[in-house]
Amino acid sequence: MPPGSGWPGDLATSTTPVASTAADVRRLSAGTALTELSARVSVCRACPRLVAWRQRVATERRAAYAGETYWGRPIPGWGPADARIAVVGLAPAAHGGNRTGRIFTGDRSGDWLFAALYRAGLAVKPTSVTADDGQRLLGTRMLAAVRCAPPANAPTPAERDTCRPWLERELALLTPTLRVVVALGGFAWTALWPALAAIGRPLPRPRPAFGHRVEVQLAGMLLLGCYHPSQQNTFTGKLTAAMLDEVFARAVAYAGG
Ligand code: SF4
Repeated sequence: MPPGSGWPGDLATSTTPVASTAADVRRLSAGTALTELSARVSVCRACPRLVAWRQRVATERRAAYAGETYWGRPIPGWGPADARIAVVGLAPAAHGGNRTGRIFTGDRSGDWLFAALYRAGLAVKPTSVTADDGQRLLGTRMLAAVRCAPPANAPTPAERDTCRPWLERELALLTPTLRVVVALGGFAWTALWPALAAIGRPLPRPRPAFGHRVEVQLAGMLLLGCYHPSQQNTFTGKLTAAMLDEVFARAVAYAGG
């Protein structure tokens, strides 16, 4: 979907600067305000493998969505700019965010996540289906460590590092109000560590291992581990709705309601 062609929530236009290299990502993220940052994220082309994959998926499509137009671009963060809670995932799903253009929207992980956010009072509806479905996040912003859908849900370390300046800048912009960062899964946990250091949070050494409900105090900010609501975890019962509710109840309590 070309930028500025009318997709709901598309912040980019045909003149939005496009990052084509890791150096471009660093340059175009530095000092950029949140709306423009999101626009720049959404047209980024710095990882050739991921650009090829996201576009291939958008062209080939899954049979169930054969009649739909896919977004096929990176997924920017979503939610209010003065969020007190950030929920950080791994990367968009090929037929979820990469299809709908909104993070965790239109896939099974998102079904679990938005239902839990709604129960916690952090979303206005329990479902998130399309970018124009009326869903809104309350005091919460969702973002991904890597902004493009990767093959087999597995970005390379180099892709994670190339994408990190987008994450760092977004966290820096949220910092005045941000109180809790929920890391969904070990990949997000690992990706967050250098990003939190870059925005000046004091980090303990050695780094605590990721685990569900592991908490790290970061001088007035709480990093909170949560199993990723992937089908692998929810089908097997490793992550239950009650476990998600505990995490978001803790996040809400720490963030101040
Ligand atoms: Fe750009 Fe991040 Fe996508 Fe790489 S993963 S192309 S850095 S948005």
